[in-house]
Amino acid sequence: MKLLEDRIRKDGTVKEGNVLKVDCFLNHQMDIALFDEMAKEWKRLFEGHRIDKILTIEASGIGIACSVAREFGVPLVFAKKAQSINLDGDMLKTEIQSFTHKRVYNVIVAKKFISEGEHVLVIDDFMANGCAAIGLIELVEGANAVVEGIGIAIEKGFQDGGKILRERGFKVESLAIVESMDAKTGEITFR
Ligand code: 5GP
Repeated sequence: MKLLEDRIRKDGTVKEGNVLKVDCFLNHQMDIALFDEMAKEWKRLFEGHRIDKILTIEASGIGIACSVAREFGVPLVFAKKAQSINLDGDMLKTEIQSFTHKRVYNVIVAKKFISEGEHVLVIDDFMANGCAAIGLIELVEGANAVVEGIGIAIEKGFQDGGKILRERGFKVESLAIVESMDAKTGEITFR
């Protein structure tokens, strides 16, 4: 999506450790007009697909997913990072290795918010190694619901998450796929 790629080129900064910083428009300060355009693009890409619910993970997926949920006219649920996994049986649970924070989170969603047979669109801001998306898929499958697709704002194509999930047969729609980025020169190329 050219609009997003142009914005990443203009305002994104490349950090050491394969981290792209986009906090002035995506995951700290948020450009909601841009999110609305991104949501329209996912609506086009998932045309004809049954989507009953949007699922994302706190915190930085939530803003984008709000626009997506409004565009599709369905509820949004966000998975919570829990302090303790010692919870009652009303929760779907999984573990997610955080790429940016280098730690493992227990992640939960109340069972009542994902029902058996529902078709869910998973949304997140970034895909690196795919851990966040795989965790969200586990939550959906744990509810005997269906992952209809995965919408990612920025996929880092030089990391394996997108490849792994496409090979598993999921429809992964990333609006910008970074082919390479260089922390020294700041150069970013797209696929
Ligand atoms: P994965 O689980 O696919 O390895 O990484 C995806 C998660 O890590 C996303 O939810 C996102 O919050 C974070 N993340 C991964 N790579 C980046 C990055 O380059 N920049 C930022 N800001 N977040 C990232």
